[in-house]
Amino acid sequence: MNKKIAVIRGDGIGPEIVNEAIKVLDKVAEKFGHTFEYINADMGGCAIDKYGDPLPQHELDKCLSADSVLLGAVGGPKWDSVPGNLRPEKGLLRIRAGMGVYSNNRPAKIWPQLASASPLKPEIVEKGIDFIIVRELIGGVYFGEHKTYEQGGEKVSEDVMKYSESEIERIGRIGFETARKRRKKLCSVEKSNVLDTSRLWKAVIHRLAEEYPDVELTDMLVDNCAMQIVKNPAQFDVIVTENMFGDILSDEASMITGSIGMIPSSSLGAGSNGLYEPIHGSAPDIAGQDKANPIGTVLSAAMMLRFSFDMPKEADSIEAAVNKVLSDGYRTGDIMQEGMKRVGCAEMGSLIAQAI
Ligand code: NAD
Repeated sequence: MNKKIAVIRGDGIGPEIVNEAIKVLDKVAEKFGHTFEYINADMGGCAIDKYGDPLPQHELDKCLSADSVLLGAVGGPKWDSVPGNLRPEKGLLRIRAGMGVYSNNRPAKIWPQLASASPLKPEIVEKGIDFIIVRELIGGVYFGEHKTYEQGGEKVSEDVMKYSESEIERIGRIGFETARKRRKKLCSVEKSNVLDTSRLWKAVIHRLAEEYPDVELTDMLVDNCAMQIVKNPAQFDVIVTENMFGDILSDEASMITGSIGMIPSSSLGAGSNGLYEPIHGSAPDIAGQDKANPIGTVLSAAMMLRFSFDMPKEADSIEAAVNKVLSDGYRTGDIMQEGMKRVGCAEMGSLIAQAI
């Protein structure tokens, strides 16, 4: 297969970690007979330096012309004092809006080799943690009307939470499709004992379930889900939920796995094009020192193969290679443990590529 990948290296450790992901993708292409063409695009601080804009239209156009986008990270202290509308993070908002990605997918996976880094008790961790949170990204209370006014001599605030059937249906489909590509279990999380938006959510998800008889659907109230994620995370395969619930639950879920450098993410919209990036930032404190952990970015590339390019075997091969390298005892500084072999960013990437 022939695929065009827009590559945004960004700032800080961005270029280092993206280079390692490309090393791994090139090895996959060679082994499975694909061609990946890379289109470099500038976004973030480096784009501000070059063009005076964190994501000029011509750079966004490059991303829109590709089959998917692989992003490192943007931002850093050098650009902290630029005006708000020109900050590197504006590039992130602009690319999400420009690509129309309404679903954010974040896996919570514990690597058994790193289990001791989890804050959960060993007896919970040893049952396994491997689930994905599919979060609605551009609707709900974050995008409703916000206002504060005077009433009866005091200030009153309102934030409107609104969802339409079509908004719920399109994210619901991503939930079902994601479950279909995994262990075929979908947990729909809402607050239908209190909220109208949640009752509509539940009704739409159940209507959709008729189209996905191979996926086992369960419902869970969000407060119970927050408890279950720390009590028995092994029960989850895919969680689908609205914007604010997903924001909170996905941070909780990333904490229980231990290390920020290991976690990938994807954002998807109507088509198969997606935006793939690790969940961490540009780590200016270790940039340019060959200390960064490239695994979150490498696993983001694996998600791109699985979810945008329909290449499950290729994605499996990357995840298996990461597993092997960790089992062989190689660690970057952030996940270093006693008795293990410390390697830099470039060596970690080479080891994973060799293990494909
Ligand atoms: P950060 O995630 O960059 O770093 C937090 C800590 O984790 C640091 O100690 C860093 O060294 C470490 N770390 C992060 N990723 C690592 C990796 N792959 N390997 C090893 N260690 C790693 O968060 P921050 O320090 O709050 O933010 C730094 C900059 O990144 C800021 O300008 C912020 O705005 C930006 N940021 C960008 C994104 C993005 O591009 N999506 C996300 C978050 C923050």
